[in-house]
Amino acid sequence: MIIDIHGHYTTEPAAMLQFRDKQLAGLADPGRRPTTSDLGLSDDEIIKSVQPQVKMQQARGSDLTIFSPRAAGMGHHVGTEAVGQEWSRLSNDMIHRVCTLLPDNFAAVGQLPQVPGVSPKNCIPELERIAGLGFVGVNLNPDTSGGHWNDPPLTDRYWYPVYEKLVELKMPAMIHVTGSCNPAVHHTGAHYINADTTAFMQLIQGNLFKDFPELKFVIPHGGGAAPYHWGRYRGLAMMLKKPTLAEHLLKNVFFDTCVYHLPGMSLLTEVVPVDNILFGSEMLGAVRDIDPETGNYFDDTKRYIDQIGRLSDADRYKLLEGNARKVYPRLDAQLAKRGKPGRPA
Ligand SMILES: [Zn+2]
Repeated sequence: MIIDIHGHYTTEPAAMLQFRDKQLAGLADPGRRPTTSDLGLSDDEIIKSVQPQVKMQQARGSDLTIFSPRAAGMGHHVGTEAVGQEWSRLSNDMIHRVCTLLPDNFAAVGQLPQVPGVSPKNCIPELERIAGLGFVGVNLNPDTSGGHWNDPPLTDRYWYPVYEKLVELKMPAMIHVTGSCNPAVHHTGAHYINADTTAFMQLIQGNLFKDFPELKFVIPHGGGAAPYHWGRYRGLAMMLKKPTLAEHLLKNVFFDTCVYHLPGMSLLTEVVPVDNILFGSEMLGAVRDIDPETGNYFDDTKRYIDQIGRLSDADRYKLLEGNARKVYPRLDAQLAKRGKPGRPA
């Protein structure tokens, strides 16, 4: 089977967006707050809302998408802690409904109620709740300010409570920022890619995985600039007296394949060991058009992988399925229980 580890609910029903609008309007005028968190959506409406993704899975030959709330919609920098808690719960409940209704197509990843300046400990109740619902991972935002980078680096003890819980629950975190409120930083074009790169460098500077040898991070969007500048990062690790990147980070850090052209995919798979690459497309996400140079969708990333001749069959299995099962052990267990085990090692 083919597992796409990076999809967002970007086709959410209008009722969900209306709820969020009311929530934000209620910050200025309590009279405009939503009166209920029951969106009144039927199962059929939810199933209908994800048909674009299901059709693309069929057209592109993938089976299951690891599915999380719209990343730019997380909006950790907006509102109060109570608003963020309510919004995360509602967003996660919607993901849970999608994944319960279409378990062969979607597996759930959650949004955390992170708040600028508030200890990530505040996320633990929601993290435990979604683990109980069968979620297989979370998105962790390294910059809750939305483009101003006020949080401590990911290696700081500030983040440790959430890491302890993730390890206990056997959940990986995708390092994923939300929208940018800094007009100098475009969200999908600059903020996302900056965040991927920044997170990777933070991890080089620290020794996080000495404290958390079981913790797993996925750096999305092909790892930002990291693979392209691998020599720089290898050299910086040396200058900082760190072990090699392989020893220092690659037992714990993985990259997805959300790279929207063949030369980029070729570089990623040449530079980063295949054990550290997970198939992802982020459909429907940042770039939704057809590339006039190829006639195919920019985010049809499997097409680029298919064109890389140097990958063996074993490599392809790892990249398209096996690595996802290792990094998301809860998903592997769920699939095995449903009669879909991975290949024996
Ligand atoms: Zn994403």
